Parts: sequence; structure tokens; C-alpha cells
Amino acid sequence: MARIFCIANQKGGVGKTTTTVNLAAGLAKVGQRVLMIDLDPQGNATMGSGIDKREAEYTVYDVLLESASVAEARVRAAEPCGYDVLAANRELAGAEVEMVALDRREKRLRTALAAVGAEYDFILIDCPPSLSLLTLNGLCAAHGVIVPMQCEYFALEGLTDLVNTIKQVHANLNRNLSIIGLLRVMFDPRITLQQQVSEQLKGHFGDKVFDTVIPRNVRLAEAPSYGLPGVVFDGGARGSQAYVAFAEELVKKMPPASAAAAPAAAEPAPPVVTPVAAAQAVGGETGPGTPHAGTDA
Ligand code: ATP
Ligand code: MG
Repeated sequence: MARIFCIANQKGGVGKTTTTVNLAAGLAKVGQRVLMIDLDPQGNATMGSGIDKREAEYTVYDVLLESASVAEARVRAAEPCGYDVLAANRELAGAEVEMVALDRREKRLRTALAAVGAEYDFILIDCPPSLSLLTLNGLCAAHGVIVPMQCEYFALEGLTDLVNTIKQVHANLNRNLSIIGLLRVMFDPRITLQQQVSEQLKGHFGDKVFDTVIPRNVRLAEAPSYGLPGVVFDGGARGSQAYVAFAEELVKKMPPASAAAAPAAAEPAPPVVTPVAAAQAVGGETGPGTPHAGTDA
């Protein structure tokens, strides 16, 4: 069965989509079978995989509203990306409203993915910059969350809401969910503050901070306008090499579940950053065992 990871951070513009498409391409490059799901009505991950979001016959919207299966809706990313895509476009914003009245509204993606889990090693979900019902569908479907972060002064602050949401989803909807790790992105080692925040992250979260650091690299920013992930557009660029290294690190850390002998149900949960510890580390108010009613920090 596939490992299912959300790439999430409710902060906008932190590199979620860049991470999702490049990790998908990087994993494909190292021989993994990958499905990438665009769960953002902006459709950036769709376009960044060479699929015209305005012309997609079916999208993740149809899957959430059960008018198409994943097998019917998926398409192949532009060659030679090497992964499958569940596309998104503006229509998806409507799903948010339409799903409110439906049953199992948080679990629709999870239900739909069960049918294709065996066909992939990794399923990556690009989340929108909000803690919305769409993101909730991603979190309910996933085993873990990868959090891309820029090493800026307020980086840790924004983490509290995300960690609290993950904690609630873990408690109420998805016992398998954990934070897989924090990925430092758009890193510029010449900026002292970034180095300091990077060290702070390591200090607070230890080995939950991925070893790989993604540098700020203009080729990664240029690639989407060619409808390709940087890893495919210019594999020699520093940013692209970093994403392939990240794919390798992830495979090592989280081998595909199919490699394990145990059946999916008996599989041990991936290592957890305890949300409580994380919340405390980022200045949250959550005490051990304290029920947390809201996501307000
Ligand atoms: P949103 O919250 O709107 O979905 P996002 O978190 O998905 O945004 P991206 O779209 O991936 O963020 O990145 C934001 C901008 O930063 C984009 O213009 C992207 O090309 C650029 N960018 C991302 N990563 C890098 C990098 N490592 N080096 C240079 N530019 C980058
Ligand atoms: Mg995005």
C-alpha cells in the first residue's frame, strides 16, 4: 500500500506546491510509483505538472463528489515526469461548499484512495494555504504530513495552528496521522537569520527536521512556466538536485509500505512528533493531556 503524505502549511507561498511536484518527480526518478493529488483550487500543482487545468475532463472535484473514481479521473503528468496526477481547478472551491451538506465529508478522499493504494508507492497531496475542509480531507486520507518551511522569524509561530489541527485530526478522525518532518525550503545560507532559525528548528524538533535543505534556486521558480517540475526541467540545477536528495532521504526514512512484510492494518504508525511537544516547542499553550477545543493559538 502507498504511503500517503500531505504537503501542508496554512501559510501561503511557503513552497508547498514546489515541494509536491518536485518530490513527485524526484520519487519517480528514483523508481517509485507516484500519484500526486492537487487539492488546491489554484491548480498550481496541476499546471506545474504540464496539465492544463482548464481542459481536465475529470478532477479531484469529481472524486470528492463521487461522480468519478480516482482511476477514471487520474491523468499522466507531462513526459518525462513519470507520475500520475489528480488535477484541480477553480471548480474545487465549490466542492468545499457542496460537501458541507454531505455525509462523511472529511473522509471522501480517504475512501476514494483506498481503491488505488496498492498501485502506488507514494501518494502526495498538495494542500491549499488554509485549514479548510479540503485540507481536512487530505489530513484524513494521509499517514503523515510534510511541512515545508522558510527559515524566517515568524516560521515557528505559524506552526502552532497546523500542529493543533493535526492533533485534532489524529484524536478524532485519523489515528494514523503524524508529522513526518519539517523541510527547510528557499534556504539562503548567506542570510544569518536563516541559519539561526534553521538551528532553532533543529534544536526544537531534532530528527523531525529533514537533513536535506532546499536552497533558493531560480530554476525551481522558472520551471512551472514551462509546465514542468524543476527536477525535470533542469535536473542539474542545485534546487533540483536537492529535491532528488530529499526523495532519497524520504524513501530511506519511510520505505514504501509494500516493502514491509506486515499488512497495512498491522503496520506500525510512522514516528510521531507529538503534537503536544511540538505545540509547546512553538510556544503553544497546550499542556499534556489538555483537551484542545479550537485551533486558535
Ligand atoms: P500557496 O500557499 O499559494 O499554495 P505554496 O506554498 O504552494 O503557495 P509555491 O507556489 O510552491 O508555494 O512557492 C511560492 C513561490 O516561491 C513560487 O513563485 C515558487 O516558484 C517560488 N519558490 C518555491 N520554492 C523555491 C525555491 N526553492 N527557490 C526559489 N523559488 C522558489
Ligand atoms: Mg500551492
